[in-house]
Amino acid sequence: KPSPAQDGWSSESSDSEGSWEALYRVVLLGDSGVGKTSLASLFAGKQERDLHEQLGDVYERTLSVDGEDTTLVVMDTWEAERLDESWNQENCLQGGSAYIIVYSIADRSSFESASELRIQLRRTHQADHVPIILVGNKADLARCREVSVEEGRACAVVFDCKFIETSATLQHNVMELFEGVVRQLRLRRQDITA
Ligand code: GDP
Repeated sequence: KPSPAQDGWSSESSDSEGSWEALYRVVLLGDSGVGKTSLASLFAGKQERDLHEQLGDVYERTLSVDGEDTTLVVMDTWEAERLDESWNQENCLQGGSAYIIVYSIADRSSFESASELRIQLRRTHQADHVPIILVGNKADLARCREVSVEEGRACAVVFDCKFIETSATLQHNVMELFEGVVRQLRLRRQDITA
């Protein structure tokens, strides 16, 4: 049976008491400006933006969800300016234990990009059931809304992924998003070990 460690990006091990100690790589995808870095920074518990913007950033934090600790390594590397951007993006699309596809509810083109990303992910992850969460960020921009909640939800149903609207600015639903990722990863783990 496949072990999550075999994909090379995530690892799991049992400690001496036999409980799981899990580390998962979560990749943020989405158009420029939709709020990926803002969400990642809130996840990391930082208010200030990091200085390494051009490199893309990696944030690690252990969350206690439903009485169990899980460590997420959140990769904000989609737009990293590497020498070979297509290599980088290909790597991003392959290396995740879970994916967060972000769009802005105030930017319809970012919503369309999210659909394209979902299709690209389907290509690289056909057999495995990698959790994917569709995120409509900037929910605070109600008057500029271009994508309704219903559309976001319907898209998630079609694409077989979870859906949540967030506001990084108001810090609304941000930790709920990452806790949801943890729960999705655990469901997958149960599938694998069953
Ligand atoms: P990225 O390019 O996807 O990493 O997006 P950033 O995190 O850099 O955010 C782009 C811009 O959108 C910044 O000016 C943020 O302050 C702003 N922003 C991010 N999240 C929100 C949000 O939830 N609401 C609003 N109103 N602005 C946001």
